Amino acid sequence: MKALTFHGKLDVHFEQVPDPELKKATDAIVKVRQTAVCGSDLHVYHERESGLDKGTVMGHEFIGEVVEVGKDVRFLKKGEMVASPFTTNCGKCYFCDIGLTARCINGQLFGWVESGIGLQGSQAEYVRVPYADTTLVSIPEDLSHHHALLSGDILSTGYFCADMAEINPGGLYVVIGCGPVGIMTIMSAFEQGALHIVAIDSVPSRLEMANRLGAIAVPLHGDPVLNVMEKTHGTGAEAVMEAVGSPVAQDLALKLVRPGGIISTVGVHTSDMFAFTPADAYNLNLTYRTGRCSARYYMDILLPKLEDWPFDLDMIISHELPLSEGPRAYEMFDRKDENSMKILLNPAL
Ligand code: NAD
Ligand code: ZN
Repeated sequence: MKALTFHGKLDVHFEQVPDPELKKATDAIVKVRQTAVCGSDLHVYHERESGLDKGTVMGHEFIGEVVEVGKDVRFLKKGEMVASPFTTNCGKCYFCDIGLTARCINGQLFGWVESGIGLQGSQAEYVRVPYADTTLVSIPEDLSHHHALLSGDILSTGYFCADMAEINPGGLYVVIGCGPVGIMTIMSAFEQGALHIVAIDSVPSRLEMANRLGAIAVPLHGDPVLNVMEKTHGTGAEAVMEAVGSPVAQDLALKLVRPGGIISTVGVHTSDMFAFTPADAYNLNLTYRTGRCSARYYMDILLPKLEDWPFDLDMIISHELPLSEGPRAYEMFDRKDENSMKILLNPAL
């Protein structure tokens, strides 16, 4: 089959790789209809996250059709359209049981193979899905395929970020980073009851999108600290939701949050140290929450909400390209060229 594979910094190939095969009786093979490029793929692309074997098939956001099932797959049927969270879930361990599916003891991240161990990704014609029954979600007839795809990662992640911020209508909230995850965070924070959100980024088209959703867009160079302090009479934000994953953004979050407030971080951080000190955290009575989103858990909460979702989710999708144009899609999304936001890749185009 054809796939996008990792070959080093800024080096993604579109090439022929072996077709995936069932390895365990609980596996399924999914024919990918649409997959997408995520900000998390960019950490790999820049080798900020290292260790990935060369030749690994990248990607973890997809929907598709079940084309093969192992003999112990009970519920999924061939021909069914499914959405997937970006990690697999056994559905049996303690963490799956408490809804922390991101930390399933048998879980794997799609698109991460290190020293020969791991799971190939979804930016391909086919993908193997372990624990298919408890990982995959059958897409209801009336659900848009795009929305199903978004629910498997960035929508769940944005919702999780807002959830950790404990939104109550009174306060002023901040979202740092208006990439696809930040935009989903803004939508989710409004959906969860926020009335006032300041959104920060440096890319004009992304700030404009935040503004269209009802957030107060503040450019990074426009002194966001002064702006938020003025709006809160010097107190700071109730919670800061950070969807970037850099020390600069972490430092900014600390400067914006009020004493006793929350920093909710979904940006993937790869530094060795916090941008602020334990004393900084102590002096603010800070609550800091972070981690990989339990997308499988949130899909169950979100899918029933999507019919009445208060915002146009499709606004996030900027391009749909053939899988063969994957290397260009990475470049474009990385440089934020052509107002790119969520780029879908379609193996059938
Ligand atoms: P993206 O790279 O498109 O978005 C990041 C945005 O942050 C960009 O618009 C960029 O201009 C902006 N930015 C950069 N530095 C900034 C700063 N100092 N202040 C304000 N804005 C700044 O990526 P994305 O797809 O939106 O993903 C965002 C982050 O979320 C990534 O770190 C990604 O790995 C992470 N993520 C985490 C999870 C999870 O489970 N926790 C899931 C999906 C994505
Ligand atoms: Zn992702």
